[in-house]
Amino acid sequence: MQTLLDLAIAGRPQTSRIHLDASLTALPALASGRDAVLIVDANVRCLHGTRLPDWPLIEIEAAEAAKTLATFEHLARALVRHGVDRSTLVVGVGGGITCDLTGFVASTLLRGLPFGLVPTTLLAQVDAAIGGKNGVNLDGLKNLVGTVTQPEFVLSDHSVLATLPPREVRCGVAEAIKTGAVGDASLFALIEESLDALLACDREAAARVVEHAVRTKTRFVAGDERDHGERRLLNFGHTLGHAIEKVFRPSHGEAVAAGMAAAGRLSVRRGLLPASEGRRLEHLIARAGLPVSCPSDRWPELVEALGHDKKRSQRRQAGVLLRAIGEGVVVEIEDEEWCEGRP
Ligand code: NAD
Repeated sequence: MQTLLDLAIAGRPQTSRIHLDASLTALPALASGRDAVLIVDANVRCLHGTRLPDWPLIEIEAAEAAKTLATFEHLARALVRHGVDRSTLVVGVGGGITCDLTGFVASTLLRGLPFGLVPTTLLAQVDAAIGGKNGVNLDGLKNLVGTVTQPEFVLSDHSVLATLPPREVRCGVAEAIKTGAVGDASLFALIEESLDALLACDREAAARVVEHAVRTKTRFVAGDERDHGERRLLNFGHTLGHAIEKVFRPSHGEAVAAGMAAAGRLSVRRGLLPASEGRRLEHLIARAGLPVSCPSDRWPELVEALGHDKKRSQRRQAGVLLRAIGEGVVVEIEDEEWCEGRP
């Protein structure tokens, strides 16, 4: 197993170890003889379950509609029934939904159990499993309840991506584009170059992009774990994206893609970003088969939905725009101003 990254988080003693290009079969070694319980996405169990260790297992159906306190409660009760104590390792195996739920239940049950994450979607490998944010939605508001707690480890086995439906691959590409757009022009260029191979789930292409994206994300997280400074740049596409999710109920990656395209156009209209760079962003999103806009007659609903984002304190809120590909900037944006991001 190749251990590429040790993510040390300032202010927190725990070091989260991120193993990339690893194998599911390496999980027992990471448990180091401790009792462990798996929380596994039902689809992943069906497709890859034979490669998982023979540990007690709780199966969940991954759906945004099930990322709720009710599922949290179900998981907490199931873990208690399995007799967990504070030394039991909890390991979540699945996409971003399983990772977010596992991190939340493990970081709160018995005031905190050690946990590891095994992300099985491209989106979770490049983004959701990295950085310690976890939680559930409440009353239709995304990730309203949760904690920031680093997993003990993240293990990414890129071979599992071969069974991902194409739509889920595209959603992972959206989050990788986001990270490159705000923080690393060379990651953005790598995605441009290797997009076709990435969409075909070529293992090497996925491994390169995941490694690059994880290195970039960990740089943001290590300097700002609690999301008060630089880490906020990773919300690029998410302010409007969360409103899009609320109104249109697309998948998370599709909402982020449309949100990024709108933020790119707004960046150009504000004179921050050269028009050619804005076109480059939109072109890549479109090439990945992701949406670059929303129906124009629904924008008033989007502006209305923005009012419910938990990150806001007034009618205007911090949003992320671009100064260049690879350089995001946090600025104040009035809710209505987002309409300038229309195509
Ligand atoms: P998901 O967990 O629902 O997975 C998508 C689909 O892929 C599901 O149907 C799942 O069963 C299936 N699947 C998973 N692995 C598979 C595999 N290897 N082969 C075949 N099918 C597989 O969704 P996601 O897109 O991975 O994650 C989206 C969630 O992540 C959202 O709730 C979002 O808010 C969250 N997120 C969290 C963070 C964070 O920092 N915590 C960052 C980005 C996104």
